[in-house]
Amino acid sequence: MDLHIFFLPFLAPGHMIPMIDLARVFAGRGVRSTIVTTTANVPLIQPTLDLANADDSLSHPIQILVLSFPSFESGMPLGHENLLAFNDPEVTPEFMTAINMLEAPFRQLLQVHRPDGIVADIFYAWASDLAKEFGIPRLVFHGSNTFCTVVSGALSRLKLHESEQAFDVPGLPHRFQITWSQLPEFITKPDDSMKRLGDGYRTSYGMLVNSFYELESDYIDLVKKGSETKLWHVGPLSLSQQAEEKAARGNAASISSDDCLTWLDSKKPRSVLYVCFGSLGQCTTRQLHEIALGLEASDHPFIWVVRNAGEPSEWLPERFEERVIGEGKGLLIRGWAPQLLILNHEAVGGFVTHCGWNSCLEGVSAGVPMVTWPLFAEQFFNEKLVVEVLRVGIAVGATVCSHHKEKRAVVKGEAIKKAVDELMGSGEEAGSRRKRAGKLKELANEAVAEGGSSHMDVSCLLDDMVNLKASRGI
Ligand code: UDP
Repeated sequence: MDLHIFFLPFLAPGHMIPMIDLARVFAGRGVRSTIVTTTANVPLIQPTLDLANADDSLSHPIQILVLSFPSFESGMPLGHENLLAFNDPEVTPEFMTAINMLEAPFRQLLQVHRPDGIVADIFYAWASDLAKEFGIPRLVFHGSNTFCTVVSGALSRLKLHESEQAFDVPGLPHRFQITWSQLPEFITKPDDSMKRLGDGYRTSYGMLVNSFYELESDYIDLVKKGSETKLWHVGPLSLSQQAEEKAARGNAASISSDDCLTWLDSKKPRSVLYVCFGSLGQCTTRQLHEIALGLEASDHPFIWVVRNAGEPSEWLPERFEERVIGEGKGLLIRGWAPQLLILNHEAVGGFVTHCGWNSCLEGVSAGVPMVTWPLFAEQFFNEKLVVEVLRVGIAVGATVCSHHKEKRAVVKGEAIKKAVDELMGSGEEAGSRRKRAGKLKELANEAVAEGGSSHMDVSCLLDDMVNLKASRGI
């Protein structure tokens, strides 16, 4: 039966990228997939779609429908249609107002196109009610993993007090400790808008998760045992990308694939460290300076991605560019890096990551161990998963969870060097960590292959959608 699904991603790369991947996975299974987004976001998506649609095996090309962003009505500056445009990567009340105002034009699209289901990001709290109005299922996508869902649930049931003491999160399959300052605001200061998002999730048909069963089975089993919520684990979604799509993903890269690959080809296997703080992560000048010191001292070749920093003379140590970049030891990418292309190159042996979930999963899928450096949101939870549950990472020692770079404690160059040397070193534990990372890569690839756990979850979900459509008598 012919299925038509609408995909409504939240307007930030970390949410849009995996949802476009998801639309691609569905399209690969014969679903008519339509992405709904706002005008200024089209150029971020179109190149990926053009490449995906060049695949002759797709029975329907992936389409885009465009909504006009209510800048004026919501009080947002013109052109600020994606968190990429913000100085601090925080969702402001005005941005949320704009997201809520998209409901009316989205309803009009539903009236005209009558899709069989909606996959909408968790930020669209109104999507579940709207789907009900049209008698179709709404699936939630939140861009995170089930471990975070379980940890957030456990923390929200505790009476938490501000304190410097690390504490255990009770009732979980693994024991780990966390501090108050590492907790995101949605735990320390939950507000009404969070409650609304939770309600939208609870009244949805179910949740799609970019993860795979073998990665977090204890946590998936726990959720499935303890609630009625329907969950489908359909990742790693980045593995849906063909080679040439990897370079176009998310944004226009600030370096050509050829230049990047030529540089990587000149390095020994597993010798290069890749340093990136996601699509939104920024560092203070002081922090950038410490990273430069740490990378130079650690003596491993590196690719370092830097966003929105001032003149290099303000943050790079004196003559760093001649000594380090000029000598070919380091490659500085200022802007957007072709991350998937880099992580999957055989020269890359370590990843310093801010622990956004996509980055963690892309590191896992590439079999690359990580130095974890969480900055904001649920990233400190992801650090626990990577370091303490999966044991494929080393924590650099970040202590403060904040969207504002000035509020985070500076990590010194020595601490960075120590973590990097341990990760890239030849010690026994480094070897075991690499082996574990290699095993996870295998499991990730098996999960999305025909008959794998994620492949089967997609099949089950699509069967469900087909049955629902049939039961509506269409
Ligand atoms: N990304 C990229 N190039 C960059 C920065 C980020 O391709 O220079 C991609 C990365 O591969 C990932 C996404 O952007 O798919 C970032 O998502 P993540 O969840 O890791 O972090 P966020 O940006 O949401 O904090």
